[in-house]
Amino acid sequence: MSLDKDNLQGQGMTSLRTRQRLIERLTEKGISDVRVLEAMRDSPRHLFLDEALATRAYEDLSLPIGYQQTISQPYIVARMTECLISDDRLSETPLENTLEIGTGCGYQTYLLSIFSKKVTTIERIEPLQIKAKNILKNLKVNNVSFKFDDGNNLGQQQYDAILSAAAPFEVPQNLKERLSIGGKLVLPVGNNEQQVLTLVKRISEDEFLEEKLEEVMFVPLLKGVVS
Ligand code: SAH
Repeated sequence: MSLDKDNLQGQGMTSLRTRQRLIERLTEKGISDVRVLEAMRDSPRHLFLDEALATRAYEDLSLPIGYQQTISQPYIVARMTECLISDDRLSETPLENTLEIGTGCGYQTYLLSIFSKKVTTIERIEPLQIKAKNILKNLKVNNVSFKFDDGNNLGQQQYDAILSAAAPFEVPQNLKERLSIGGKLVLPVGNNEQQVLTLVKRISEDEFLEEKLEEVMFVPLLKGVVS
């Protein structure tokens, strides 16, 4: 993956040096896939935040994005992305078809668009999704379809990767069924006090392998939409 000069232009807190420091931090925390580290270094996280918070964009923190939601912490974005692409270490676009629940500001969506030929992202808060859509359009991302809907309502489509950025109390059966065989689902599972990042792999038509990865804290998976 080459450095994109336009993406890397930035002063002070958004400079390449600041981004390199974040990558060092992610490496220390255990992220090892070079493709993920390079993509994180080259992704302009500051563009997904309001101006007042943009100077903190390359700290390893979740930050508010309005509507009581947050942009995910870079480490978690890296970890979830790494889980989904880890089976195919040689390919630059290892995923065919990815589903994301909880577009938020679109930062994780942007990362997924690098590694998947096609991404579908669902968000229940319309103004958040409109903003994310504009940012990705300005970044010339053209492999993402945006759906304004409750991510609990899924069609019959199957995906080789699914990521939820909002936490259900348990792994939803309908989400598991949206995985193609060999596909992976990564999501936080739990309540407002305790959540575990969980990886589910579909082994066959009715066999699923579930692995608990680490404790996390995400917003809850809610029902209905807000326009
Ligand atoms: N990766 C995003 C995370 C945003 S927080 C980012 O970095 O910006 C999680 C998002 O999930 C919120 O925007 C919230 O509105 C959304 N969400 C919660 N429940 C949902 C549901 N049922 N369907 C779709 N989106 C949902």
